[in-house]
Amino acid sequence: METDTITAISTPIGEGAIAIVRLSGPEAISITEQLFKGKSLSEADSHTIHYGKILDPQTQEVAEEVMVTLMRGPKTFTREDVVEINCHGGMVAVNRVLEIILSKGARLAEPGEFTKRAFLHGRIDLSQAEAVMDLIRAKTDKAMSVALKQMDGRLSGLIQTLRQDLLETVAHVEVNIDYPEYDDVEEMSNEVMRDKTKEVHREIDNLLQVAKQGKILREGLATAIIGRPNVGKSSLMNALVQENKAIVTEIPGTTRDIIEEYVNVRGVPLRLVDTAGIRETEDIVEKIGVERSRKVLKESDLILFVLNHNEELSEEDEKLFEAIQGLEYIVIINKTDLEQNLDLNRVKELAEGNPIVTTSLLVEAGIDKLEQAIADTFFSGEIDTGDLTYVSNIRHIQLLKQAKEALEDAMQGLEMEMPLDIVQIDVTRTWEFLGEIIGDTASDSLIDQLFSQFCLGK
Ligand code: GDP
Ligand code: ZN
Repeated sequence: METDTITAISTPIGEGAIAIVRLSGPEAISITEQLFKGKSLSEADSHTIHYGKILDPQTQEVAEEVMVTLMRGPKTFTREDVVEINCHGGMVAVNRVLEIILSKGARLAEPGEFTKRAFLHGRIDLSQAEAVMDLIRAKTDKAMSVALKQMDGRLSGLIQTLRQDLLETVAHVEVNIDYPEYDDVEEMSNEVMRDKTKEVHREIDNLLQVAKQGKILREGLATAIIGRPNVGKSSLMNALVQENKAIVTEIPGTTRDIIEEYVNVRGVPLRLVDTAGIRETEDIVEKIGVERSRKVLKESDLILFVLNHNEELSEEDEKLFEAIQGLEYIVIINKTDLEQNLDLNRVKELAEGNPIVTTSLLVEAGIDKLEQAIADTFFSGEIDTGDLTYVSNIRHIQLLKQAKEALEDAMQGLEMEMPLDIVQIDVTRTWEFLGEIIGDTASDSLIDQLFSQFCLGK
């Protein structure tokens, strides 16, 4: 199957002064050797670095000064011989080197093909391969660390355990079918099935719970800024955008009036929605009532509710408190540079334990505290503890849901005291769905589709 030698530029195009051309395959070393003026590579030890020059095979002119890293399989990412050519001369030079390598019989790698080889050679499993892809795409520190954890094989490990559990229950049933004369075996099988399916079901549920948080990391927390007119909503949005590097400023396909900004607040990606552009959120409650505005607000992962320190609490403020009850919100008391007319005790009462932060956006005070509160809200709890397994991949989430459904079918079958060999079909389906997450039962076309999404050179 994969016996040719592939090559690609494996550093981001147009970024940095140093670029790396990577080769992988049986000819990686011999192809490089033909072009390389320096130490003999075929005689060099594995995992060594060599300074030298790449010569143009036609003119014998020096094309580029390079550092060549030599790694012999199988102790490499792809498990094949790998050579990395470190070029200093920028993109023009690196493209020339790539061309020369191609002229010597290496093939340009398809997107993700290096990682695909690592997968096919058993170096990494599918969920790890996908994590590599996520890593490449990770826009924020947090998303990055989630991807890293997954690459660690945490998710794979857990999935494997669950599959093993299911396999054991199936084995029990097989015993039962083979020896139907033993009544106690049947009873035992039934009990084992009941216990194990419940246990696995709970684990899958847990994974799906954290999956929601993984998704948030990727897409950003949908964050709504609400409050009466003039309290400082737009000022707050501007402050957050100025303080924190905006990740993306323009999202194609968004309505002209909706202003969305992506900011990274201490590792928490926020998708800020300034409601002012469409309709002042303060009007929502009046226009459509508490129940329906609640529904609208519920679509937010986080609500920043701004109050005016300078004014008394109004009926509108109280209604907004009512509308966000039970949702994730932070109260921001703004304009602390002005005289206090707001009843703080009443605000505390209404906030029901949600964080309250005071700011003066005019003089840029309190923004730090607000950022800390935002980070705390989402990372103090489950998300930041190092030992949770995160599911952050849409495909994984779908497979987990399918596995859960199949398992529920099995559980229902047990409840209805259906024959175990029937129940077993659903257990096997569960096992297969879980297997697809780590690539055990994934079909070739699925694998091809997945790897084609990778960046070139990875
Ligand atoms: P929005 O209607 O809620 O979006 O409020 P804006 O952000 O447009 O602010 C309304 C007015 O309040 C503007 O004139 C701001 O300059 C002013 N403002 C915002 N924050 C503060 C603050 O902390 N102190 C004072 N004194 N004025 C502020
Ligand atoms: Zn505004």
